[in-house]
Amino acid sequence: MKVTILTIFPEFFDSPLKQSLLGKALARGSLGIELVDIRDYTADKHRTVDDAPFGGGTGMVMKVEPLYEALSAVTAGKDIPRRKIILTSAAGRKFNQRTAIEYSLLDHLVIICGRYKGVDARLHKFFDIEEVSIGDYVLNGGETAALAIVESVFRLLPGGIGKIDSAMSDSFIEEMLGCQVWTRPARFKGESVPAVMQGGDHARQERFRRFCALQMTMNRRPDLLRQTILDEDDRLMLQEIAAGKEFEDCY
Ligand code: SAM
Repeated sequence: MKVTILTIFPEFFDSPLKQSLLGKALARGSLGIELVDIRDYTADKHRTVDDAPFGGGTGMVMKVEPLYEALSAVTAGKDIPRRKIILTSAAGRKFNQRTAIEYSLLDHLVIICGRYKGVDARLHKFFDIEEVSIGDYVLNGGETAALAIVESVFRLLPGGIGKIDSAMSDSFIEEMLGCQVWTRPARFKGESVPAVMQGGDHARQERFRRFCALQMTMNRRPDLLRQTILDEDDRLMLQEIAAGKEFEDCY
């Protein structure tokens, strides 16, 4: 998969793209990231990317011409059916794990990082662009949003993280939160790791993880449970959780 990021601050990505698993995946070539400096597509000597808004008001607006030229260049001559162009925008469709899965199936994801008051709306007349928000708050620019999107998508790619099983047991994969986790020491300042997780009964541990994930979801994000696919066993566990029971009380 290839990701192209259009930005006026390509250096913003220098460190994050070198770190940890993402850095390794890029070095290995399992993911390709192309950074495009929007200023390279300006025509004036000041490399101007913004201008005052029509109709007055505060703040500047990203000019349409450099973005049009940059997008034309990155999409030119390459007929890639599974390509999507997104524009980071607080007013966009809310990005979530489902969107990450959807994007992980693409061959080419193009991300435009907005700045200032936003992008001249006419850009949408020339390209099929989806506006995407990473949450109900306003950032200074789309670079932070682009990084969040890239990192969540890359985790789902083959070879992205070491074990895909790990990504598949994360929160939101099944419209529910993931189970809590523990590591050594088994006892710390009087607090112990649950006994079941210290033993060797893998089937019971699997059951505990499910119970714990359902309990976390019911306590913290009950809204998710409306969409979770639940089997009979899950429903029974939810009844027990609602009755205030703990795993050890029931299994
Ligand atoms: N005037 C815009 C509004 O009211 O929605 C906010 C512009 S913001 C200062 C500058 C840029 O940051 C936006 O064009 C967008 O690219 C990016 N941005 C801000 N908040 C975002 C969010 N929650 N999700 C994605 N991108 C965001």
